[in-house]
Amino acid sequence: MSATIELILSPPYNEQFYTFRDIISGTVIITLEKPLSVQKVDVIFMGTSETVVRPGDYGENGTLTNIQTPPGEVRSDHVLVNSKQQLFPPENVANAIQGSTKPFKLERGKYEYTFSFQIPKKPKCISTHPKKLFTFLSDKEFITLPPSFNNSVDRRNISNLDTYFYTLGQIEYRVYAKLFTGKGKDSWFNPFKNKKIVSKAIEFIPSLMPNGEREELLPETAPPLKTYSSKFNILLNDSLEARAEVRARTLNSVFRLDYLFKTHCGKFDEVYLVFSDRPPPNIDLRLVRVQLNLLEMVTYLATGRTNANINSLRLAQQYMDLPIILSHCRRKPDGSYEYPIHLDRVENLNLLQFNQEDYRHKGNRLYSFTTCNIKRKYKFQLFLDWNLNGKKMLQTEILTNYVNVFCESLKLLEHPPQYSDDELPPQYDS
Ligand SMILES: [Zn+2]
Repeated sequence: MSATIELILSPPYNEQFYTFRDIISGTVIITLEKPLSVQKVDVIFMGTSETVVRPGDYGENGTLTNIQTPPGEVRSDHVLVNSKQQLFPPENVANAIQGSTKPFKLERGKYEYTFSFQIPKKPKCISTHPKKLFTFLSDKEFITLPPSFNNSVDRRNISNLDTYFYTLGQIEYRVYAKLFTGKGKDSWFNPFKNKKIVSKAIEFIPSLMPNGEREELLPETAPPLKTYSSKFNILLNDSLEARAEVRARTLNSVFRLDYLFKTHCGKFDEVYLVFSDRPPPNIDLRLVRVQLNLLEMVTYLATGRTNANINSLRLAQQYMDLPIILSHCRRKPDGSYEYPIHLDRVENLNLLQFNQEDYRHKGNRLYSFTTCNIKRKYKFQLFLDWNLNGKKMLQTEILTNYVNVFCESLKLLEHPPQYSDDELPPQYDS
């Protein structure tokens, strides 16, 4: 065919990815080497959230589901965006010839059509779900368009099983330009004969809402102090137990470049060791290692079945020899004793900012989201290793509640940074 079609998209405002402050706009260029019959030129903005769930996976209640359900994979597709604009013939002409597929003869030359799409605030599928359909958004009030996810993965070139399972869920946004040529309707035996289609994927990350949410995330008054305790107590002698505690106000969310241990940062700057009773002075207790992980839990849903992918990302590991001065313990009203562990005074921890390297996990930046069929959630996990009387190694583990992870920095939002590819990513334990 002597016609070519080209799609050019305007770059996003932050030059990295599209957000709610962008409009998806661009130009479709049709080049004809000789006169041609053209029915129409369309541009389509599509967004989908797709999952595949394999047999042997577990249901929402934790039971093995493949006892009842037949083997085989099940799929789920939700349409997030489906907007179409007809670029040629122009709208007034199209209306006048309504229903007619009679083509227009176009002369040899170059034809340019501009377009723009508003990004919808909510997924399109929400309004068309059957009433009884269970989705991850069924009980949610605040629903917003989700970010791109696993959209840069080439499924044909996956050699690693973890990555294979991880990429069974995908959120893709794509703009298509379509040129319909020829004289009549599509031929049933060769439907693509009279069509030329080009498309481009766009990376969309709505980590901050266009209006209001930023203020909600940063309330005027300080949020309440929350206490996160270690799962198990450590035994220091026959009658004395201790647990580690994090007391924090801002562990419900984390933005890129947020400080994690710095004094008054509200995350891991207030860590305590709490003793069940007054600790005797003859115990030699030392903090010898601190490790902070980010746990990622990605869950896919299809026809009532789910599967989960759990990954651990190491954010910090610091060896030290910090003696706990037991005579400095404070008595609490309930009769226990507490000792503040000043992790903010450990220089490397004090300087640590969240996701400084803008890490990509299997191609995805770090952010949390929920769609009808995909959940990506995070928790922090803090390990403290202790030496007791010079030998015995004890460990406490503190797991936070779910934390909303944002890939943008609150400080840099107005002036996006230049990203660098040669920075080292954090160590990754699978
Ligand atoms: Zn849906």
